[in-house]
Amino acid sequence: MKLLIIGPQGSGKGTQAQIISKKLNIPHISTGDLLRQTEGNLKKQVNEIIKKGELIPDNLMLRILKQRLNKDDAKKGFILDGFPRNKKQSDLLKKVTEINKVIEIILSDEEAIKRISSRLSCMLCGAVFNKITNPPKKEGICDNCKGGLYQREDDKPEAVKKRLEVYHKETQPILKEYQNKIIKINGEQSIENIAKEIKEKLE
Ligand code: AMP
Repeated sequence: MKLLIIGPQGSGKGTQAQIISKKLNIPHISTGDLLRQTEGNLKKQVNEIIKKGELIPDNLMLRILKQRLNKDDAKKGFILDGFPRNKKQSDLLKKVTEINKVIEIILSDEEAIKRISSRLSCMLCGAVFNKITNPPKKEGICDNCKGGLYQREDDKPEAVKKRLEVYHKETQPILKEYQNKIIKINGEQSIENIAKEIKEKLE
């Protein structure tokens, strides 16, 4: 199954994508994680853009994504988180592969900002926790790999405002292109309930 998960920052799409990935045994491919793992001479340029909450140029993004999609584990399916983010990327994706279903998580900006300000990410494996709604078992330590937790530079208020602006202006409009494949989910529920709803609607 080839899935997209789309929603504003803080909607819990990364968390849900990890749950779905385990259940369906398909890789969770997060373009944000791929970019944060960039090494070599692209690293500085990529980090500068991410810090400001802006988008990486489409061609570079697609090149990185294609490399990941070509790996063996993605052949039978995947859940793609963070891509496409605009019309150009959606057109490019259509040329590369066909998507079966699109999960849209709906959340107000007010709630998104509230959640992001208490979000923590793992330095090693990229797992996401929330100080209030989904705290790690041990403070500052990732439950999965024992890596250290930190607040991402782009989870700071100015960058979050910019990222939500980009989401409404560039990402939300592409949802209409997947109209007959969309599963809409209310993001203002517990992680468990959202996971249950997604599972039921995917079946
Ligand atoms: P995320 O972890 O999905 O919130 O992504 C973090 C940052 O990575 C974004 O704010 C962008 O700067 C960059 N990024 C992630 N995915 C994309 C994409 N599909 N196109 C361009 N930039 C991206």
